Amino acid sequence: MAKKELDWANIGFSYMKTDYRYVSDFKNGKWDEGHITDDANVVLNECAGVLQYSQSCFEGLKAYETEDGRIVTFRPDLNAKRMVDSAKRLEMPPFSEEQFIDALDKVVSANKDWVPPYGSGATLYIRPVMFGSSVVIGVKPADEYQFRMFCTPVGPYFKGGAKPIVVKVSDFDRAAPHGTGNIKAGLNYAMSLHAIVTAHNEGFAENVYLDPATRTTIEETGGANIIFVDADGNLVVPKSASDSILPSVTRRSIVYVAEHILGLKVEERTVRLDEVHNFKEMGLCGTAAVISPVGKINDHGKEICFESGMEKMGPVIQKLYDTLTGIQMGRLEAPEGWIHEIKVD
Ligand SMILES: *Cc1c(COP(=O)(O)O)cnc(C)c1O
Repeated sequence: MAKKELDWANIGFSYMKTDYRYVSDFKNGKWDEGHITDDANVVLNECAGVLQYSQSCFEGLKAYETEDGRIVTFRPDLNAKRMVDSAKRLEMPPFSEEQFIDALDKVVSANKDWVPPYGSGATLYIRPVMFGSSVVIGVKPADEYQFRMFCTPVGPYFKGGAKPIVVKVSDFDRAAPHGTGNIKAGLNYAMSLHAIVTAHNEGFAENVYLDPATRTTIEETGGANIIFVDADGNLVVPKSASDSILPSVTRRSIVYVAEHILGLKVEERTVRLDEVHNFKEMGLCGTAAVISPVGKINDHGKEICFESGMEKMGPVIQKLYDTLTGIQMGRLEAPEGWIHEIKVD
């Protein structure tokens, strides 16, 4: 078999059906051993728990081809652990870390021809998802669940370099105080759709959500955590006053890179909206883009402009971006345990 012939640089971020996916079912109190299938469709009863009360959670990670032709994933143990946390919070049966990694190895190796070539800028996006599959009419957790892991190649997030974006301070909240903002639940995204469509219609790339309890501190965007660089060139990372920020793997890795590799100081603390004008750089971090630079925040017509401007990433964020992507792509040595190589037969 050989790599698929795709125009890797121009495939965009959308679903493309690949050859295989992994499926495991939870029945009679346990997960089965799981298997690979070519069937991309799920047949559910009309009364399935996920369709009634949105009992679902998911993850997102990527596989890359390295310069020397290996296929690697980045800290998948953290995605596996976070999915356990998500499942527990939603009264779903956790899928073990070992079985998650086994599923990952199987899915990526079965779809190895879909892993974009090194240097194309494209990557293989992997989507684990779990949902209540048995019937539920009274409000309660389902008795049966399905875990799936599928993948789709995605193009480079930034075509022609990372241009800074403009974001708005949202009038909507993404999550409730002490609700489900800190887990990767599908329902958080259903909640955010109206806000994102509204922001796009107004010409903004993303929403910045404030903490839902006091609406005075910065939380995150719909699908990415936020980082700032202060006037001394150090990293400031917003901490939630109401535990409603999703613990991004990318953000946690950036904090490590900043402290241990680049020697920056890192402050993780609540960040007030009214102090943001003191910062020099802002970025959004998540698996999809790694870091997207933000040039401006629009707060109800008032613009907060970062010194890094609207042309390119600021210098500190650029350094963080280059270091982290270098580690992910195998160009720089990774901290112990960060790179999980997929054994391909
Ligand atoms: C997935 C997600 C992120 C980014 O997390 P990564 O693990 O870095 O991909 C940030 N915020 C929200 C709300 C998310 O769902």
